[in-house]
Amino acid sequence: MTRSARSALLALALLPATALSPILSIPAEAAAPQVRTQAPGFYRMMLGRTEITALLDGTHPFPIHEVVNGIGTASADALLERSSLAPPVEGSINAFLVNTGDRLVLIDSGAGVLYGADGGHLMANLRAAGYAPEQVDEIYLTHLHRDHVGGVDRSGSMAFPNAVIRVSRRDSDYWLDPANKATAPGFLGPMFDGAAASLKPYVAAGRLAPFDGETQLLPEIRAIPGPGHTPGHTIYQVRSDGQTLLAWGDIVHVAAIQFPYPAATLKYDSDEPDARRERERLFAEAARNGYWIAAAHISFPGLGHIRRDDQGYHWLPANYTTVMVPAAP
Ligand SMILES: [Zn+2]
Ligand SMILES: [Zn+2]
Repeated sequence: MTRSARSALLALALLPATALSPILSIPAEAAAPQVRTQAPGFYRMMLGRTEITALLDGTHPFPIHEVVNGIGTASADALLERSSLAPPVEGSINAFLVNTGDRLVLIDSGAGVLYGADGGHLMANLRAAGYAPEQVDEIYLTHLHRDHVGGVDRSGSMAFPNAVIRVSRRDSDYWLDPANKATAPGFLGPMFDGAAASLKPYVAAGRLAPFDGETQLLPEIRAIPGPGHTPGHTIYQVRSDGQTLLAWGDIVHVAAIQFPYPAATLKYDSDEPDARRERERLFAEAARNGYWIAAAHISFPGLGHIRRDDQGYHWLPANYTTVMVPAAP
């Protein structure tokens, strides 16, 4: 800087602020409007040679005090506070697309229109992820609650026109039988209605194919019963090149409460003691073996691992990756 430039700058610095204001009041650019949307809701990872794409259907407020049982409200609130949360807790609605290389399988389908504006975004996110609904060969449902089955329907027709739907016969027998609706608690009524309406076009087309108990559905995917949340609630175990992922549906609804305190159950569990037992069994198994977890209601993308600690368990979200290299064959 030259001597004259330095003295000019010094003179400027010594000017009173009022003297500067005419110089600096250059009109600003118009303020950019806030956008207030997220990136498309898909997240991808490789599991061995199998490609897993988490798809977001939406987020939904969970009224903790009304739906979580087996824990007092003060204890529930204290656990939420450890995660800087308070009721109602916004929970994700996740589904998972599995591309084995030979088959394209969608595990759960989101809520479709059944949760209003909170859900129904799965189809847009599927397309954003580079797939079309016509490419889906099979849909594996963990259970027939409407936030898992609702997305298979599009205004009374098949949203996935080339897909066959697989689900435990224990769940299809239970939720598709109007006699069970008559004896179930009233708040489950919409679940029966949602399951029947969503599956109707597939039933009519002969594309609902229930299975019985533990079943190897594909070389890479095994259905394993995990009853309690619903009679036929099913875990889908995906294996490729020595890696294992459990798409475990509704084993966890509120991570901040149920990892440290797995005994917390849900009003919507068909059998709360069984649901608790399954959760405790799966937590122990997944932590011991280092399995990947794909969870329906843990914060999107709902992919991660679990660890045992001195206060129960905790969730380790997947480390973000852009690397999509399949394991060596
Ligand atoms: Zn459920
Ligand atoms: Zn659910």
